[in-house]
Amino acid sequence: MVTPLNKKKTLRDFPKTYFNGKKVFVRVDFNVPINKESNSIREDYRIRRALPTIDFLIESGAKIILGSHLGRPKGTIMKDLSLEIVSSRLSELINKEVLFCRDFMKDNLSEKVDDMPNGSVIMLENLRFHKEETANDKIFSSNLASLAEIYINEAFGTSHRAHSSTYGMAQGFKTKIAGFLVSKEIKFISRMMKEPEHPFLVIIGGSKIRDKISALGNLLESADKIIIAGGAAYTFLKANGINIGSSIYEEEMIDWVREVYKKYQHKIVLPIDHVISKSFNKDDPCSISDKDIPEEHMALDIGPKTIELFNSIIKGPGYIFWNGPMGVFEFEQYSSGTIHVARAVALATWRGATSVVGGGETIAAIRKAEVLESEISHMSTGGGALLEYLGGSQLPGIEILD
Ligand code: AMP
Repeated sequence: MVTPLNKKKTLRDFPKTYFNGKKVFVRVDFNVPINKESNSIREDYRIRRALPTIDFLIESGAKIILGSHLGRPKGTIMKDLSLEIVSSRLSELINKEVLFCRDFMKDNLSEKVDDMPNGSVIMLENLRFHKEETANDKIFSSNLASLAEIYINEAFGTSHRAHSSTYGMAQGFKTKIAGFLVSKEIKFISRMMKEPEHPFLVIIGGSKIRDKISALGNLLESADKIIIAGGAAYTFLKANGINIGSSIYEEEMIDWVREVYKKYQHKIVLPIDHVISKSFNKDDPCSISDKDIPEEHMALDIGPKTIELFNSIIKGPGYIFWNGPMGVFEFEQYSSGTIHVARAVALATWRGATSVVGGGETIAAIRKAEVLESEISHMSTGGGALLEYLGGSQLPGIEILD
């Protein structure tokens, strides 16, 4: 039988003394965006989110081994995907030396860890520099596992992958538990799946529906209202016979969308006007169009009437889940819709709604709108993992925990 996610053991279930002097492997998600030109970290949000767990373990006197991936090096060593700058940044954040291990297979790491004083931290190089990591190789997994006595998953965003560091290595541990961040993710997402406060409002944006259909299918069932905007809206509008010009849409999804629309029409809210342009360029002229979009024009953001409509819906109280931007928010002139929605979600949270925002793009949009982390109930670090879980798939990295 599958254990409900919110019944998993977490750091909170143990006293600090339990970790004193023990070697603890923490699978973190330090897959941060890197500025290649300056070899610097563009956004350290994912590192900061793991600090409560790392601080707790330092205070407990554990010997902490941190493992993560960065990007997709596919088993080769790529200088620009090294975690060395991440380990330096972590050292600044915790105001403590963080040792860095280039290759745990060669560096006699086990002995090094034994000799480390309690409360020390060591960070391993990008685990995906070894092709065995994503292959969930048995020997690689047991080599990793041999470094520690306790396993902690603090990488919700990679928990949908059965890799060595997220799954294979955990199998051999007597104590394998969720870190503070993972347990917070589980708490909010389980509640949303099982007993969201009503009205339950879902806001879906982004470019594609295809990756989100299972999640969408389940959310359509449980939500009271569902706003569909961004590129995802144009397949719905086209299926409804509306002229979408040259806007992005998914032909292969039209039949599915027609079915869904027939069943859930009363819940679905789509854009009623758009910001359009003839080309997908940052500075080309743009204008506003009503529902039907003229030929050779593409919609790149929601229009002012739609913003007004969405503002009147995103009010709270209840539960709000938002995934995906309302337009091409990376370009200034198409960011207004997303910024307004971010601010509306924050305002609804002030009014008492529980808000969960998920996915890298959506979190970037929250920042662009200058909405503070504290103005949203929970910002989920897991894009793919979150959608897979909402779609009904199990997360091996969570399932394996005690
Ligand atoms: P996703 O990964 O599916 O969540 O998509 C995120 C991307 O969707 C962002 O990079 C946006 O630029 C893009 N996007 C949002 N709205 C539109 C649109 N109307 N047309 C094209 N791309 C869009």
